[in-house]
Formats: sequence, C-alpha cells, structure tokens
Amino acid sequence: MAKKVPYEIITLDTAAPESPRARVLLVYTGGTFGMGKDENGTLVPFDFRELLEKAPLLQNFSLQVTILAFTNPIDSSDITPDHWTELALLIKENYETHDGFVILHGTDTMAYTASALSFILKGLNKPVILTGAQLPITEVRTDALENLVTALEIASFRLADGSMKVKEVCINFNNQLIRGNRAQKVQSNKFDAFNSANYPVLANSGIEIEYNDAYLYKGDPTKSLEVFTGWERRVAVVKIFPGMHEKILAELIGNTELKGLIIESFGSGNIMTEQWFLDLLKKAIDRDVLVINVSQCMGGEAIQGKYKASEALVNLGVVNGYDLTTEAALTKLMHVLGRAESLKNAIQEMITPISGELTLR
Ligand code: ASP
Repeated sequence: MAKKVPYEIITLDTAAPESPRARVLLVYTGGTFGMGKDENGTLVPFDFRELLEKAPLLQNFSLQVTILAFTNPIDSSDITPDHWTELALLIKENYETHDGFVILHGTDTMAYTASALSFILKGLNKPVILTGAQLPITEVRTDALENLVTALEIASFRLADGSMKVKEVCINFNNQLIRGNRAQKVQSNKFDAFNSANYPVLANSGIEIEYNDAYLYKGDPTKSLEVFTGWERRVAVVKIFPGMHEKILAELIGNTELKGLIIESFGSGNIMTEQWFLDLLKKAIDRDVLVINVSQCMGGEAIQGKYKASEALVNLGVVNGYDLTTEAALTKLMHVLGRAESLKNAIQEMITPISGELTLR
C-alpha cells in the first residue's frame, strides 16, 4: 500500500479566473527549483504561497493553476515508487477537473519518475509535464521560471477539436520537450540537463513553441485514465565493466530474493564472455529472474547476437532491451514484475512498447 505523502493545496488564480484558457494542476515535490536562502544564507525550500511574488509574470497567463505543494518537499534522490504511485493517483483524482498537469521535481531522478508515470498512467489523453531547475527560483540567473512558464504553456495547449496538444508524460527542460521515458539526465552543472535518447525532441521552445507533430503520441479518446500500481523492488542494475569480480557479482546475482536484473552492456549489447559470469546468469534465469540487456551507450541499442560477445546471452534467454534507456528499463521492469501473472507474460510485456519507450527492430 502506498504511503500517503502529505501536501497542501494552494489555489493560484492567475488573470481572468472567470474564463481561464485552461486549468492546470501544478504539483510541487521539491528539488532545486523551490530552494530559497533563509536569513543565514542556507538553502531551504521556499514557501509556494509566495510563487506569485517571486514570479509576478505568472499573473499574465489566463490560466487557473491549482498548486499542490508537498508539505515536506524532498530532494529527488529520496523519491521512491510510493511517490510515483501517489503522483499518479493525484493526477487521477484531478483528471476530470484539470486540462493539464505540471510536476515540479528535482532533476536527479526526474527521468525515472517520468518513465514510471508513463507506464502506470494508462489511457492518458492529457499532458503531464515534469520540470525543475538547475538554479533555484530565488537566484538571479535562475532557469526555474523559464522552465515553469514553458511547462505551463505546453500543459495548457488545447487543439481546435478540444483535445490537448500533448497527451503523454514529458520532461520540459531548457527549451526542449522530451518524451519522459526517453529522457536521461546528462549534465549536472549546465542548463541543458536532459537528453532525448533514440527519439526526436517533441518540441523546441524559442519565440514560438515548435512541436514535432509527427513524433507526439496521438492519444486514444476512447480510453479513460487508469492507474496501474504495484512495484517489484527486488531488482538490480549491473553495469558491465572490464575486470568484474566473480565473488562480488555472485552475492548479487546469486541472491535468491532477486526477481529482475538489468545488464547495462557495452556498445550494441556486448558483455565479457567469461564462463563464471555466464554461469551466474544461467542460474539466475533458471530461478526465474527476468534478465534484460540494455546498452550503457547514450544512443543506439542492444542487438544480441550481432557480435560473438553477446551470442551467449541469446542462448541463455536474456531479454533484448533494444533501445530502452536504463531509467525506462528499470521502472518498466519494476512495474511489469509488480503486476504480471507469470514470467512469460512479464517477458512479453518488457518487449512490447507501452508508451513509446521502445523501438522494435
Ligand atoms: N538534488 C536535486 C534533486 O534532484 C537536484 C535538482 O533538483 O536539480 O532534487
């Protein structure tokens, strides 16, 4: 059962509240975005009731923004699957009364949260836009305001037919809109913190926001939103490197609690072919551990069998993760194993795209 995350509700009626262009739910979870300096100069979460004071230009939007601020904002390093469930349930509870959703989140694990939400919000036909900042909103050179304003703009864009332009979970950061389950944090000290792995950027924001229409998810108006919860946390990621130690890996891969394992392989899906490692994988697979192979490269994909160095994986029954990012593979594995009725079903689900996270060859 998910833990309830306490939050406060703050309604921010920006201009023209009587006929707002759209109603947006803004969920503030924490991260650098909302930091301010207290009287001693220490960075502490800023009070979201002061948002309009810090960002008066938000008044000029003809939007009605409801803010749900976590009572205890967190660094995103402390995000857990319970928070993913809680965020999804908040969206579900507010789905009919809002046109779009913006989640303010720390950048460190934003790609994991975006991926996780993209898998558990089934039948989504409205925008869920995650954003944050590299510099707090209280800093003069902050990127927080730009990221938030553009996220609100995207989350409120309605088409002539009444449907929302964006109908999926995305990250908006530094003028790029990225599919959530394709995003990876690649920079810790520059404003362009995120990369879109193996998928085009969905929109570029300059003077205009230019959408890459061909790549946006089209949605399915016949579906209504459902939240699929249940996470398997007994999973692990092993990044392959030259000189791995048998005993250390035996402790992890041989652990009988393990249910799912991601191998982050070299290049196009290659691993060292030492027998002890293959034996460890075989024993795990024989114990019904779902083992999946993704590349540790930022672009490209795992193609098991392309090189001799990955042929053994095919024979062992390691699942090919194609072009999944590690963030998407991990959250999908936790989601799929948390619900699937059999290992066979779980494997099938892992290689079937749920929300555009995977390109099959
Ligand atoms: N440590 C912070 C977090 O992820 C960094 C940030 O927000 O950018 O919560």
